[in-house]
Amino acid sequence: MNVDSEFVFELGVCAWAERNWPPEGTLPSDTTAIVARQLGTKYRRWDTVVVEANTRKLAERARFGTKRLDGDLLGVVRNAPTEWTWYRDALPEPDYPWRYVREAVHRAAGRGAVDTRRRNNRIELRQKWAYPDWVERVVAIENKPDLTASAARALAGQIERDVALGLCDEVWVATARTDEVIEPVLLEDFPVEAGVLVVDTDEEGGTNAEVAWHPRTLAAHEPGTRIIERATGENAAEFEYASREWKTEKRLGIAERAYERGWRAYADTMRPDCRHFELREDGRTLLPWCAAKGHHQSATECAWSCGSFEPEPPTWRSRGWPIEGGPGKAIKRLLADQRERSRPDLD
Ligand code: SF4
Repeated sequence: MNVDSEFVFELGVCAWAERNWPPEGTLPSDTTAIVARQLGTKYRRWDTVVVEANTRKLAERARFGTKRLDGDLLGVVRNAPTEWTWYRDALPEPDYPWRYVREAVHRAAGRGAVDTRRRNNRIELRQKWAYPDWVERVVAIENKPDLTASAARALAGQIERDVALGLCDEVWVATARTDEVIEPVLLEDFPVEAGVLVVDTDEEGGTNAEVAWHPRTLAAHEPGTRIIERATGENAAEFEYASREWKTEKRLGIAERAYERGWRAYADTMRPDCRHFELREDGRTLLPWCAAKGHHQSATECAWSCGSFEPEPPTWRSRGWPIEGGPGKAIKRLLADQRERSRPDLD
């Protein structure tokens, strides 16, 4: 694998995490790791996110379907009562008009997540199942294949923000192994709270990683501090308070999106409908490959603007094409199948 492409490095780290999480030791037998990529908040997006979930409760979560429950739907399913109740009596008073809550109740019912009925011209609801408390830990990994000393210095400020906010239980930086005796990042003034994973991308069995520095557990269940502006010579730092409730809500939102998308949804933003788009095995991982350019292409280059794009011939669509060079729909289906297989369900 060519680590020049951060995108391909990122997919390798996701595949490795899916097979090997946690980096050392094993997860408790009742815990399942879900791996996703490019998730976060409007302030911060992490390359790889690992959600450690209680396996039994995750199966209970699966009853609500494989699509994520957004904040409005979560407000409905988490507060839906066991007995028929007028929705305004059952759900917390919103700080916006009730009609939006009513829409969310209808959406939740449309997804089969709650029962509703109309009585005396009022919408009543009751829960079908209790929404479980399934998320145990949320871990963020920042992928920086080429973490030179100066790149480490630039990243340090970002990691300091992550540590101050403590939205995740752990923050890691994954970097490609160098020929140095001590990896450059360890020589830098890098936040000690962040773990460091050293990644080998040329292993025969696919990407492998080992721990160079263990992370500290962050105070994810306590209020945090959002650093808006770091202190400079003339200006004082600017902070915002992040409440425990805000953090809980954001963590659950991230976990719901991780559950829905996993890490293989990248084909949705690339051009698998291009005749040059292939999936090639790298160890045990299928990675996108551009036959026209002869390398693993990044999501940025494999876009609408790509000058080498050529649509797949229509005749391909009517045949059961093999994986390599196959038509876009089959590739998307294959990745979706893999995602489903890695997602625990009701069984
Ligand atoms: S030619 Fe462009 S659009 Fe087609 S697979 Fe390669 S990078 Fe993607």
